[in-house]
Amino acid sequence: MTPDLHARHRAVLPDWLALYYDRPIEITHGEGRHVWDAAGNKYLDFFGGILTTMTAHALPEVTKAVSEQAGRIIHTSTLYLNRQMVELAERVASLSGIPDARVFFTTSGTEANDTALLLATAYRRSNQILAMRNSYHGRSFSAVGITGNRSWSPTSLSPLQTLYVHGGVRSRGPYAQLTDAQFIEACVDDLRDILGQTRGVAALIAEPIQGVGGFTSPPDGLYAAFREVLQEHGILWIADEVQTGWGRTGDHLWGWQAHAQNGPPDILTFAKGIGNGMSIGGVVARAEVMNCLDSNSISTFGGSPVTMAAGLANLIYLLEHDLQGNARRVGGLLIERLRAVGATTECVREVRGRGLMIGIELVKPGTDEADPDAAARVIEAAREGGLLVGKGGGHNTSVLRIAPPLTLTVAEAEEGAAVLERALHSAC
Ligand code: PLP
Repeated sequence: MTPDLHARHRAVLPDWLALYYDRPIEITHGEGRHVWDAAGNKYLDFFGGILTTMTAHALPEVTKAVSEQAGRIIHTSTLYLNRQMVELAERVASLSGIPDARVFFTTSGTEANDTALLLATAYRRSNQILAMRNSYHGRSFSAVGITGNRSWSPTSLSPLQTLYVHGGVRSRGPYAQLTDAQFIEACVDDLRDILGQTRGVAALIAEPIQGVGGFTSPPDGLYAAFREVLQEHGILWIADEVQTGWGRTGDHLWGWQAHAQNGPPDILTFAKGIGNGMSIGGVVARAEVMNCLDSNSISTFGGSPVTMAAGLANLIYLLEHDLQGNARRVGGLLIERLRAVGATTECVREVRGRGLMIGIELVKPGTDEADPDAAARVIEAAREGGLLVGKGGGHNTSVLRIAPPLTLTVAEAEEGAAVLERALHSAC
């Protein structure tokens, strides 16, 4: 990127608009798992945009679907019938696992979560929400308001009353030494304790694996155990699948399926990867919940035929090529390789994750103290080596986040791991 563009960026965009690298990169094009910057440098994209490039950059099937639809009409309104939207909704509904499902398309994960909160509070006639500590659900007033990681909240004002539950993170804190079964029991006790102090809670919202929170997974079955308690009170379970959806975790299409013993969530939200970079978000809920709103409403750009055409082509490719299976296989090899690398340096506290959603937590050598500066240095060094990786947000910037497109090959996984190995050794 030219310095000029960086200076112009600074002069006109908010200071708080996150921008990676001391000398930010201007990405001009991409193909497969690679992107190129304006200076012609090639990078292996281990962050998949920001978990948005689900299949591959410039996937011909998606590009063709977008350009063909854009050539016909870009957008009118969902006030008119829209074939692409109906077709994508049919597929999402049947894949969601939610019975009698209805789908509402939005333009972002934030808007999807706002809609889920609107539905839950309207259905339950309550503005009380349970959320997880260290969670992230988006940047609107209500999504920030319920987000457990308070970094984004300049005030504690929120239209919703939120109480925070243990369970999203277990590698630190009072529950760190517990077995899976003990951890689940302790979190369920915490949930029961909170519910004993409230009345009429609308919903619990949770990411099956916390994303911005540093790719922390609870033990399988935690949310099933929660759901049993929630059902005793008629409280809805909202699964925020914005990062975990569409096979990224390798074992399942959805993150909630690792917690499926007591049935699917009442509401599921998705975004990021479904459009392979086109702005699609959405909410799935059973008809009784979705239809509890009684005023007609639309999202002006939600369900736009161009984005829906992209989503359809992308989803078909993902399913036909079993990219969930690829995430499991290649992600499994990659995490093993990164664990071996982690064992050779004292600055890696933990390598964790599932499928192609892998976190590397960095600490000051010989201590348990999070080291965001080391993460920043490793990210810079990786970039010098031709590799893009992400990091956690808010209080979790000491965690490197790896989430490449799900078409990642074994050779590319090895190539990226080798760059990371060098970056960790040189920058820690
Ligand atoms: N929910 C989760 C779990 C997310 O990770 C994010 C974004 O990172 C959001 C919601 C908000 O999505 P968006 O940035 O598309 O509004």
